Amino acid sequence: MIVSEKMYGLGSQRSAIRELFEYGKMRAAKVGAENVYDFSLGNPTVPAPPVVNETIRRLTEELDSVTLHGYTSAQGDDGTRQAIADYLNRTHGTNYAKENFYMTMGAAASLSICFKALTTSPEDEFVTIAPYFPEYQVFVEAAGAKFVVVPPDTENFQIDMEALAGLVNAHTKGVIINSPNNPSGAVYSRETIQSLADLLRKKEQEFGTKIFIIADEPYREIVYDGAEVPFVPKFYDDTLVCYSYSKSLSLPGERIGYVLVPDEAAEHEAVFAAVAGAGRALGYVCAPSMFQKILPYCMGQTGDVAEYKKNRDLLYGGLTDIGYHCFLPQGAFYLFVQSLEPDADAFCERAKGEDLLIVSGTGFGCPGYVRISYCVDTDMISRSLPAFHRLWSSYQ
Ligand code: PLP
Repeated sequence: MIVSEKMYGLGSQRSAIRELFEYGKMRAAKVGAENVYDFSLGNPTVPAPPVVNETIRRLTEELDSVTLHGYTSAQGDDGTRQAIADYLNRTHGTNYAKENFYMTMGAAASLSICFKALTTSPEDEFVTIAPYFPEYQVFVEAAGAKFVVVPPDTENFQIDMEALAGLVNAHTKGVIINSPNNPSGAVYSRETIQSLADLLRKKEQEFGTKIFIIADEPYREIVYDGAEVPFVPKFYDDTLVCYSYSKSLSLPGERIGYVLVPDEAAEHEAVFAAVAGAGRALGYVCAPSMFQKILPYCMGQTGDVAEYKKNRDLLYGGLTDIGYHCFLPQGAFYLFVQSLEPDADAFCERAKGEDLLIVSGTGFGCPGYVRISYCVDTDMISRSLPAFHRLWSSYQ
C-alpha cells in the first residue's frame, strides 16, 4: 500500500454514527423523511443565540476585511483570549490571562493538540472512563500514545475509582474526562472530581511523575435542574481544559474552541509552548478568524437549553412509561438506555426495522446500552414513541 494503512483504515471506514446518519438519509429518500426517526447525531438543533448572527452582521460592516478575515496570531487573537480569561475569572474566581489560552478549531483539535503536546514516548498512556467519545482513541493513537479504558460504572455513570486506580501507572500521562458526558448525560459530582484529584495526586507522588487531567467540556453549559459542573482546575492543578463552542453556541460547523493551560499546572510555560508546537505540527494554527472576533460578544451566552430539557423530559418520560430503563441525563443532549437484549448492536439493527436510528453503546465502551440523541425536533420525539413501543413489544 502506498498510503498509511492506519490512515487508510480511518478514512475508508466511516464511524458507526456517520454510517447510521447516511443510512437515515437513504431511508428518508425511500419512505419519506417524516417516517424516519434519526437519533444518531449530536448536531445541535437549537439555533445559535441571536447575539451570534447580530455580531456577524455588525462586524462584517464595521471591520475591514483583513481584520475580520485575515490570519490572527498562531495562538489566537489577543482580545478574544483576554475576553475568555475575563469571563472565566468572573465565573470561577480564577486569575487567568490571555497567555493561558490557545484558540483551536473546536474540542477535537483541542484534544488532539493536548495528546500530541504531552506524548514523549510510545509507552505513554492516556486513560479515559467508559462510556467515552470514541474519537478519543483515534486522537490518542494519532499522537503516538496508548489508549486505556476504565470500565463503566453503570449504576451512576460516575467514575469507578478502584478500577481507575488499578489502571494508572508510571506511563500514564493523562486522564481524559468528559462531563457533562457524551453519551451518558451524567455530570460528574464534586465528590467524583475531588476523589479523582486525590487519587491522581497520590499516584503522582507514588510514581514521581506528572499526570494531567484533560477535561473535555463541550457540554459545560448544557445542564438541567440546576446541576453543577465543577470547574476541574479548582480541584486539580495539572488540568488542561479542552473547550468548544460547538454545542453551547450551536456552532459545530464553524470549528471554534480553545485549550486552557492554567499557571498552576506543572511546567505550565513548557506545556503551553508544546501546545502551541502541537498546534503548529498538526496544522491547527490560527483558528477561524471571524468566529474568534465574534466570541467576546457572546461570553456566557448559550442556545436555548430549555428546548433540550423539553426534549429530555418528553423522551425520558415516554420511554420510561413504555418500560425502557433509562439513565436520567443531568446534562448534554443524549439519553443512555439499556438495550433490550445483551447485544446492543443487534438491538440497534432491530430498531432500524422501525426506522428508529439509535447508536449502540459498544463503540462508547459500554456494551448493553444505546445512545439516543435528543437534539432533534420535539415533534419527531412525539411521533417516534409508537415505534419505540412496537420495538419494546417485539421483545416481550
Ligand atoms: N468531545 C465530545 C465529548 C463530543 O461529544 C464532541 C462532539 O460531539 C467533541 C469532543 C468534538 O467537538 P468539536 O465539534 O468541538 O470538535
